[in-house]
Amino acid sequence: MAYQSKNPYNGEVGKTFDEISDAQLEACIKAADDCFRTQWRNTRFDERKAILKRAATIMRERSQDFAALITLEMGKLIAQSQGEVALCAAILDYYADHAEQFLAPETLAAGRGEAMVESSPLGVLFGVEPWNYPYYQIVRFAAPNLMAGNVVMVKHASNVPQCALAFEDLMREAGAPAGAYTNLFVSKDQVGCIIDDDRVRGVALTGSESAGAVVAARAGKNLKKTTLELGGSDPFIVLEDADLDKAVRHAVSGRMGNSGQACTASKRIIVVDALADRFLEKFQAAMAGFTPGDPMDKQTTLAPLSSMQALNTLLGQVEQAVERGARILLGGKRIDAEQGAFMQPTILTDIRSGNPAYHQEFFGPVALFFRVANEDAAVQLANDSPFGLGGSVFTSDIARGKDVARRIDTGMVFINSSAVSSPELPFGGVKNSGYGRELSVAGIQEFVNKKLIRVN
Ligand code: NAP
Repeated sequence: MAYQSKNPYNGEVGKTFDEISDAQLEACIKAADDCFRTQWRNTRFDERKAILKRAATIMRERSQDFAALITLEMGKLIAQSQGEVALCAAILDYYADHAEQFLAPETLAAGRGEAMVESSPLGVLFGVEPWNYPYYQIVRFAAPNLMAGNVVMVKHASNVPQCALAFEDLMREAGAPAGAYTNLFVSKDQVGCIIDDDRVRGVALTGSESAGAVVAARAGKNLKKTTLELGGSDPFIVLEDADLDKAVRHAVSGRMGNSGQACTASKRIIVVDALADRFLEKFQAAMAGFTPGDPMDKQTTLAPLSSMQALNTLLGQVEQAVERGARILLGGKRIDAEQGAFMQPTILTDIRSGNPAYHQEFFGPVALFFRVANEDAAVQLANDSPFGLGGSVFTSDIARGKDVARRIDTGMVFINSSAVSSPELPFGGVKNSGYGRELSVAGIQEFVNKKLIRVN
């Protein structure tokens, strides 16, 4: 299997990269380990900070080029690609500015004598990352860990190799020494060998449940710590006292952003009966208003999915849902375009427990609509999911919104907003959505040794 760019809009095959040999892989791991032991772990915070700051500046200066590569490889609307690049620069800056404070030694009140906890890096870390936000997914893992003094190796998704290389080049250009950040074009077998390697001290995966289970099992066998950021089917609850227009606006942007290919997309729209008809009318009208086209064109509002395979998977899920009793209120088919993996914006209703769709993640512009009697029924439905990533609650009563948020079994809940990601906010889930956190102060604490030093 090779790493290959294939434009999801016009099907053109771009650059292709071979997987590296086992000997090349060994050289990469050795370089990373050498870099960690002889160099990177001994750098001061201000030295690491200067490198990450430079990387952020370069990303901003060349944001058009970085963004164009995202759109070329996975098809995102160019404006959203630019937004991703800006967010990555903000994350680099955030950890550059705050890592020293986040990892400062803590003194403990321990009776007699002195006690403190110091944070030290673990060593070489390995990340396995998905294509849907080609730079953001890497930055969430790399920025905090490089600032913590770890070195980072990444196996990126096989459809975004040019983004993978662009980020590695960026880190080198910003001044990171060889081995501090390494892109690896490796096979799945080699992923296993990397996890087995004694020099690798921690593993992070963002992606599907199946990949997470394989990678975490291998790491567990090797007694290595993992973090998993997996899929989701986030509930988007609209209570009867919600601002209707705002809720509709967020439901549409929350479901349609990145053509629906976001882990925290608003996938299950749950509206209480009193507002359901009015909500659905406006939601359907707004979902019908997208214009498919070239994602490089700023007039386009609907981008293709990342690949024909992704489109066919989604169409199969819709078909199966309908066979098992769901109703298509809008869309449901491939857009009859001459080119591109375009899916019609779709709304499914009448999805009952027992329909596979009830518990599935739909990774594309397909909203599952549920009408419920009241707040309690909304919470019950929200929690009736194998996933536990994010969620939203819309209400004009913030105290009530917080109360509902506390009852939802997910890692993140947004009141009166669809999900947002920001450097200072912890990101992650529970249940089959994984464990551990990225971003915020929490994200830098995952792969450090919190070492107790006790003086008697
Ligand atoms: P995926 O197929 O699991 O791929 C993710 C990464 O894992 C890729 O680099 C892939 O490599 C690799 N991979 C897949 N199977 C593997 C295996 N058996 N052994 C080793 N590596 C393996 O996921 P995807 O379909 O690209 O991404 C979509 C999923 O990711 C969705 O479920 C989405 O919700 C989730 N996601 C979660 C978050 C979060 O933060 N929670 C963020 C974004 C996406 P190849 O490309 O070479 O197959």
